[in-house]
Amino acid sequence: MRWRDLKAGELRKEHVGQRLALAGWAARRRDHGGLVFIDLRDEGGLAQLVINPERAPQAAEVAHGVRNEFVIRAEGEVAARAPEAVNPSLPTGEVELQVDELEIVSRSEPLPFQVDEENVEESTRLRYRYLDLRREHMQRNLRLSATVVAAIRHYMDEHGFVDVWTPNLTKATPEGARDFLVPVRLQPGRFFALPQSPQIFKQILMVAGMGRYYQIATCFRDEDLRADRQFEFRQLDLELSFPTREDVWETLEGAVCASFEALGRTPPERPFQRLTWHEAMARYGSDKPDLRFGLELHDLTEATRDSEFKVFAQAPSVQYLTVPQQLSRAELASLEELAKEWGGKGLAYLVFDEEGEVRSPIAKFLSAELIEAVRPEQPAATVLFGADEPLAVARVLSAVRNHLGRELGLIESRDEFLWVTDFPLFEWDEDGKRWTFSHHPFTGVRPGDEDLIESDPGLALSQAYDLVWNGWELGSGSIRIHDPALQQRVFAAMGISKDEAEERFGFLLEVLRMGAPPHGGFAMGLERFVALLAGEQNIREVVAFPKTASGSEPLSGAPTPIAQEILAELGIQVLPETT
Ligand code: ASP
Repeated sequence: MRWRDLKAGELRKEHVGQRLALAGWAARRRDHGGLVFIDLRDEGGLAQLVINPERAPQAAEVAHGVRNEFVIRAEGEVAARAPEAVNPSLPTGEVELQVDELEIVSRSEPLPFQVDEENVEESTRLRYRYLDLRREHMQRNLRLSATVVAAIRHYMDEHGFVDVWTPNLTKATPEGARDFLVPVRLQPGRFFALPQSPQIFKQILMVAGMGRYYQIATCFRDEDLRADRQFEFRQLDLELSFPTREDVWETLEGAVCASFEALGRTPPERPFQRLTWHEAMARYGSDKPDLRFGLELHDLTEATRDSEFKVFAQAPSVQYLTVPQQLSRAELASLEELAKEWGGKGLAYLVFDEEGEVRSPIAKFLSAELIEAVRPEQPAATVLFGADEPLAVARVLSAVRNHLGRELGLIESRDEFLWVTDFPLFEWDEDGKRWTFSHHPFTGVRPGDEDLIESDPGLALSQAYDLVWNGWELGSGSIRIHDPALQQRVFAAMGISKDEAEERFGFLLEVLRMGAPPHGGFAMGLERFVALLAGEQNIREVVAFPKTASGSEPLSGAPTPIAQEILAELGIQVLPETT
């Protein structure tokens, strides 16, 4: 017996008169006292079954017992629906199956929620993910993801990139997160680390003469989960030998465009825009600015040096942005709250009314000159100020900018892809009181900045770049260091001694000493990319079995405690307070 002749969603007018079998889930049953209608759903869509007790008394009997999400099989004749019964919003809406035989293949216990129910708690959705995944939008997201991955693979293949599998049980690969560790039964007390990325291996592959490598690589990072972050995620990971930055960018732009095309969409224009990190920070206060709206930042530091308003005069950086409307007191108060959440002390403002009059508690402290300097071109506007350390001002004003972009509906419906380039090589780690990498420790130094590594690390720029789509960081990459001596200097600047460098990265340093070609690459977060393509705000919507914000997987119940004997075999003892 064949389970089905067609997928439910494929039923069309051309099938009228044919005898066919369909199989799937009962999405909905309507009992019209006599006639029973069942919406049958499978991976192809929905079709309507009609069970008429006069035509098929036995099937009608079975139909009364069918409940939502039972798996059923129906055989019958395809019929055109009466004109008034046609459902134009359904591809199968012109026809129905007049059922002769109906079988309940598999039953379902009472459902924790209906598959078509809106606003189900996410924890419930994840607990019963197999039901949640039956929803049309989740089916669409997983299929979209598969289409994108296939398109990317095809593109990489066509462009001479070799798919090489790299180990998941390995040594720490620093990308700024904590490692997930795996104990080793054969060597108690020793641990593998799951890779935060295949970074070191892909560099080694370049030294090994592979030329062009790529992988859809799973990466593991133990860090707080957020809307755009999971413990494990996939990257389109790639590396090229003898590349210019443009070669890397062109590759990525091609892969992005191939993904758009595979989904039948118009790809973004190439080449993508570029901004240096300094420009991005100065104009948007962010290294991943959303360019779909303006609200740019302006610098006022010089102009406020001898202001009577000490908050401005004494701040290392003063910047402002102009909102094209008068904000109310309540709106200003909520923006101030937002500023505080982002580490700001407050949010000074000037409101200019229709007549150009200024309303603000700080106006009396500001010189007429200063007020003129920030006076907006149009009346009825609000100027918002940040005054603090430069990075703190940027953090607060960019959060305010993003918030206002959304709240005031300033975001235009277009796609903005952007390369942010020339990142600083190091950033200051306040806790450790030392310089640390801003990307990863293998990032190339901008040619000409080598001496700054020792003399003024904070000023040294790198050859790192990020790809940003509508304000989301899609990924990062760089031209790498291929000179072992330079690599040592970078380690040293971060306070990593020769011995420590040897112990942690000795295998890479050795490789770099054995004829390392110049190389560089990139990694793009696939779930972020797919989420944006699917129009989702949260990557959990495109991941089949994601972790919750607290780091558990509700369906399987992982993580779980492990039995004493197994731990003992691994040489592990769990401290009581951590169990
Ligand atoms: N390994 C880096 C990352 O995972 C990407 C790269 O530099 O190629 O972010």
